[in-house]
Amino acid sequence: MLNIYARHQVDSPHRIVIVGGGAAGLELATRLGNGVGKRRQAEVILIDRFPTHFWKPLLHEVASGQIDASSHQIEYASHAKWNHFRFEQGALSSIDSGSREIVIDETTDVDGRALLPRRTLRFDTLVLALGSVTNFFSIPGAEQHALTLETVEQAETFRRRLLSSLLRSGQARQATPGAVKTPVSVTVIGGGATGVELAAALRGSAEMVRDYHLASLDPASDIRIRLLEGAPRVLPALPERISTRAQEVLAGLGVEVRLGCRVQSVDAHAVSTADGETLASDITIWAAGVEGPPVLRALEGLPLNRLGQVIVDGALQVEFGSGIYAMGDCAACAASKGDALVPPRAQAAYQQAVYLADALARRLDDRPVPLFSYRDQGTLISFGRAGAAGALMSELLRRPLFIDGWFAASCYRHLYRRHILGLTGIKRAVMYAASQWLRERVRPTVKLN
Ligand SMILES: Cc1cc2nc3c(=O)[nH]c(=O)nc-3n(C[C@H](O)[C@H](O)[C@H](O)COP(=O)(O)OP(=O)(O)OC[C@H]3O[C@@H](n4cnc5c(N)ncnc54)[C@H](O)[C@@H]3O)c2cc1C
Repeated sequence: MLNIYARHQVDSPHRIVIVGGGAAGLELATRLGNGVGKRRQAEVILIDRFPTHFWKPLLHEVASGQIDASSHQIEYASHAKWNHFRFEQGALSSIDSGSREIVIDETTDVDGRALLPRRTLRFDTLVLALGSVTNFFSIPGAEQHALTLETVEQAETFRRRLLSSLLRSGQARQATPGAVKTPVSVTVIGGGATGVELAAALRGSAEMVRDYHLASLDPASDIRIRLLEGAPRVLPALPERISTRAQEVLAGLGVEVRLGCRVQSVDAHAVSTADGETLASDITIWAAGVEGPPVLRALEGLPLNRLGQVIVDGALQVEFGSGIYAMGDCAACAASKGDALVPPRAQAAYQQAVYLADALARRLDDRPVPLFSYRDQGTLISFGRAGAAGALMSELLRRPLFIDGWFAASCYRHLYRRHILGLTGIKRAVMYAASQWLRERVRPTVKLN
């Protein structure tokens, strides 16, 4: 078999192409760029459909208006320049594993005009890090009428719609004092981490809108927040103690939680449940699960599981010796213990990127490569202004360590700081944190436009 990793010794440098610059892909490109890229042992290229990176676990804070996405985005092009890799904007549309080429779709600007043509790119090693998309489970109307939280644009759409609905509702109250008013109803479908975090943040957003815009808005009664979950408890994949805490917090925030509630269909202004109820809903958001991006199904020859994720071996490789890898949410990788898969989480994406940066460098040097092993470090759930809760996995105690309140909230913040630190290094991370701190001091505490 051709040793694809030795090619750089005989002709052009070994080319590593990473597709997807999210939690996994950007971390990997940065590490490889500063290692094999800087040493000119390999050429590292990152492809993403967008020009900027945003850390997805913050999307619910964009949706609730608590942070301004623009101050948390990293420009791929400048990040690439500083970290010895190359960036190309465009969406992957096909792979030819025989000729070892990928096809990238035409890139357009915001007005839809062509920026870069459809093009092919040769690779020696290809890493797929395309993330995931919302799984609507074929529920009628869900894809057409429910909003999702996959990208900054979608989070902004939700925020704008919520703000307009609250403003309209407040104006109506001022115009006809004493009239019986129906609250703005927001339905969050899915009581996993995303759904719980968003539902918890919304009451605080309404309070902030009142503080800045509308003295007449009553955040307790003018917005009705419902969270629908099919399982008997929220956060069904997490320890029961965290679910109980989340349910207490949501109840305290006046979020109506319906458990064992199966959604049957969604339309423009209502959600219908399997037990025959129709719930009025001005804004519906779908946060009930993820699956592999559709482009993976269109790529010939990739082994996919039933959720459309790429099946990889213990070295995150698609097929032994193929030189094609997958990591993060788009990969189906067995966790080291039992049959379970590595969960679609930022910490898994990070661990896989760290592993692959080392593994690919070892392969280039012809050194032995260990297998990937996932370490669950615990989970933290943010409740916005109401703090956070979670469990840290402690190897010392050999059991989860439950944390709550301000300590949990600062651990939650620390995860994002660690992500930025890993990407930018200490000097830039400090400047970045300082600039965010300053911006937060000069902007309202909720985004108002
Ligand atoms: C609202 C929300 C809250 C979350 N909260 C948490 C949390 O608290 N803790 C936690 O651990 N995890 C959380 N997650 C999950 C976590 O964000 C993901 O597991 C993690 O981002 C996965 O990293 P990734 O690199 O695989 O994918 P992503 O970070 O999604 O990155 C995928 C990248 O691929 C690019 N891409 C997609 N298709 C193409 C294409 N065809 N061509 C080129 N580029 C493409 C995208 O633009 C994107 O940049 C949350 C997710 C969401 C949506």
